[in-house]
Amino acid sequence: MGMVKRASLWKDGVFSTASPSMTLRRHAKRTLAAVAIALACASCAVKPPAATAPTIVPVAAWGGTPADASRARRHSITHITLHHQGETFKPGTDVHQYLRNLQTWSRNTKGWLDIPYHYVIDLEGRTYAARDIAFAGDTNTEYDPKGHALIEVVGNFEEVEPNQAQLDAVVALMATLASKYDVPVKRIASHRDHSDKTVCPGANLYRYVQSGYFREQVAAKLAARSTRLTGAAP
Ligand SMILES: [Zn+2]
Repeated sequence: MGMVKRASLWKDGVFSTASPSMTLRRHAKRTLAAVAIALACASCAVKPPAATAPTIVPVAAWGGTPADASRARRHSITHITLHHQGETFKPGTDVHQYLRNLQTWSRNTKGWLDIPYHYVIDLEGRTYAARDIAFAGDTNTEYDPKGHALIEVVGNFEEVEPNQAQLDAVVALMATLASKYDVPVKRIASHRDHSDKTVCPGANLYRYVQSGYFREQVAAKLAARSTRLTGAAP
């Protein structure tokens, strides 16, 4: 397909280690990130309420095309499952192009209906619609993704840390999905919780799954929403 190496599109689950120079770069990145967060906090007070649903960029906006619905495996959402890209995602990468390439590769090389995930979150924490949520996803591993709402975060979290914008976006999206499809927080997990054949979503993102961070944050968001709804009632 020319512009993007096939290998860079799907490495979900492939293990790799960071070199010393990567560790140094990571340290420098973290220092910069800390400065950025310190600067960003000047505007913390005017942030919208935490319970606000995320804006989701529609498929048409990134140049994607709808899947062939006649080939789709329809499902009802019972689980929310987190993935990572499993490959380095450089700052400045054209996300729309990445998504178009991923869609073409998924269909033409893998023979799948569409991008295997329903949502993709970029480096800035923007959320993009991918596969139609009504259609079951696809996987290179042995679990059956039917019933799972699949979220991919770009990057390789065996090598880098997720940034706060990405973590916030994951929480916001999970909360929206949990609320919409009535998924209990205990069914929020990640790829490796359902498959023995992968380290996806990568050690540095999995830490937030394992610690209960996502479940707790989602539960708090849902509680805040129901409190607001109750508060609004006469
Ligand atoms: Zn995965």
